[in-house]
Amino acid sequence: MTTPATRVAGTVPVAEAAVPDDFEGQYVRTLVDRWDELIDWDRRKASEQDFFVELLNGAEARRVLDVAAGTGYHSVALAQQGFDVTATDGSAEMIEQTRRNAERRGQSFRVLQADWRSLREHIDGRYDAIVCLGSSFPHLFQEADRRAVLSEFYEALNPGGILIVDHRNFDAIRRHRYQSTGNYYYCGTGATVTVAHVDEQLCRFQYDFPDGSTHHLEVYPILSDELSSLLIEAGFDTIQNFGDFQESFDIDEVDFVIHVARKP
Ligand code: SAM
Repeated sequence: MTTPATRVAGTVPVAEAAVPDDFEGQYVRTLVDRWDELIDWDRRKASEQDFFVELLNGAEARRVLDVAAGTGYHSVALAQQGFDVTATDGSAEMIEQTRRNAERRGQSFRVLQADWRSLREHIDGRYDAIVCLGSSFPHLFQEADRRAVLSEFYEALNPGGILIVDHRNFDAIRRHRYQSTGNYYYCGTGATVTVAHVDEQLCRFQYDFPDGSTHHLEVYPILSDELSSLLIEAGFDTIQNFGDFQESFDIDEVDFVIHVARKP
């Protein structure tokens, strides 16, 4: 078995310069089927412990919208802690897996397919908190989309509500100074994750599974300050950053950056 390690393999030219905006097309059934293997729910829980629960409790949040539910890890975990959860995701394959995982774990909450760009057409009312986790936000390649989606999130929050949004540490990845520990978020020990390509516009991750199969995910390598600025421009007034769940961190050392933004 290999330990998951993300390393920069050098800048390999991308075959086509076209920017991939089709996030749904990237989450093919065969990758979705392996997502829980990539995560390893038990190891993920052990690494993040109650970080998100404490943030949500600190904000007195009760009604929580998980907009990038994926296979349902955070939705299920938060429902188990008593939050009133709604799980959404733009991928039909992913959202189906959320339903299955919730049922398997005896949890019942609203689950629906919704693209962030039209989020409020799908949801009901406002929320005390929105979580967008697992480095999902970098699926937006266009700056106009990033701004529009942050506005959607902002409008979907109650006053005083919080948005928790994270991303892999692209500051380090873009400087080719990245080595993932495999300790956070994607904690499975089966697959090897490498960075096959990175430039200022595109990062392509390569997932190699023990059976010889390979998948790629392409995302926009957003910088931490870039997202902080967009959050302020979207109207959020307090932004707090964490690195690998720690308040004090070195941007060269962490795997993930987590932004907590408050709507005034
Ligand atoms: N949060 C989950 C986790 O941590 O395991 C899944 C993370 S996965 C990297 C990114 C998720 O974001 C996918 O499930 C994908 O379908 C979703 N996503 C990407 N772009 C989206 C969009 N525009 N609207 C809704 N969901 C989107």
